Amino acid sequence: MSSPVYWGSPRQAQISPSETLPAKLDLILDKLHIRDRVKDRQVAIKMHLGTNVGYSVIHPVLVRRVVQAVLDGGGKPFVTDLPWCVEGAHTRGYTTETLGCPIYPSTGYKDQSASAVPFTFRGLTEFQIGTPVVEADFLIDLAHVKGHPSSSYGGAIKNLALGCMSGATRGRMHDVAHWDPYFFKEHCPDEATRVAIRESCPFGAIVDDKQDPDGLHLHDDKCNQCMRCTGIAPGAFVPQESNFRAFMEVMNYAAQHVLNTFEPGCATFINIANNQIPVCDCYGISPMPVMRDAGVFGSDDIVAIEQAVLDLTADSAIDEDALPGVLAIIRREGHPWQWIHGIYKDPYYQTAHAEQIGLGSRAYNLVDVLPVAVPDFKHETYIATSV
Ligand code: SF4
Repeated sequence: MSSPVYWGSPRQAQISPSETLPAKLDLILDKLHIRDRVKDRQVAIKMHLGTNVGYSVIHPVLVRRVVQAVLDGGGKPFVTDLPWCVEGAHTRGYTTETLGCPIYPSTGYKDQSASAVPFTFRGLTEFQIGTPVVEADFLIDLAHVKGHPSSSYGGAIKNLALGCMSGATRGRMHDVAHWDPYFFKEHCPDEATRVAIRESCPFGAIVDDKQDPDGLHLHDDKCNQCMRCTGIAPGAFVPQESNFRAFMEVMNYAAQHVLNTFEPGCATFINIANNQIPVCDCYGISPMPVMRDAGVFGSDDIVAIEQAVLDLTADSAIDEDALPGVLAIIRREGHPWQWIHGIYKDPYYQTAHAEQIGLGSRAYNLVDVLPVAVPDFKHETYIATSV
């Protein structure tokens, strides 16, 4: 069965506030019946607030619309993100005054406030989910869509999977990408060859293994699977697709465990697909966007909304002029995010796996909440009135 995904396109006919993204977000909030679902409830609005001087995060104007809808419905909203993102959030425009609600760290001010849920996967033994999220009655997953170095794409699933977990869990989640061996010493004849493999990576993805002086470690986030390293000594160094997939799988499981802390029907998802920079907002900077704006999406199905965003951006081209020099288009195969982060980081694999574990449905019914009208040149005004 297909799930509705409500979409506010980035296009408009008139230069009119009623056709802007804040207005379309309002329409999406109506479609999601936010006001009818939150009365007297503690509503966690999970965001990525970025760090340092990153400004491509979701604009406070849009956040305020979501907060207002919750307040209108009699809910008690709070915005939440990891402690190191909440700290300094005011420098990026996020304050109680601008947003209309408090901002709390999702795992406590010391990153120590979390509930452990057992889960076994590639060395991981539990998820430590932030207490403020666990104790909330309703969840609005308000995610900024962008590229991600470890999974190529980051949206609603990533926002929950990493952004609601303690630092210890986040570290172990990243470690699952090192579970299957990729350096095979038996095929590496000597130290010179080991060094040659390390130096063969033009992206600095291969480093010495801190735990093993004779070993090599792969920074999966920097690896775009150009496969230059595989040509030094056959079979000695082989980036494993299973490891890249495992990171996407563990994100799905993590998001599922976060959602399991909410009653059925008490979570909804909004993806803001604007300012799509090539890396995560946690970098603390905003490289230029490299993919065209795709608008605002809303759904009660986390898989459907991710699938819809991916489909609507699948025919985008990566803006090479805006791409930082340390990122490169390796091959134009798969989704455009894979062009720069690597073919093994397949965002469609993530949605397929998410569907497989019961997180939602990839089948969706896209509802354009305000289709673009025919432009009316006579009635165009210069100074816009408020929405
Ligand atoms: S596949 Fe390419 S990017 Fe990845 S480690 Fe090897 S050389 Fe570096």
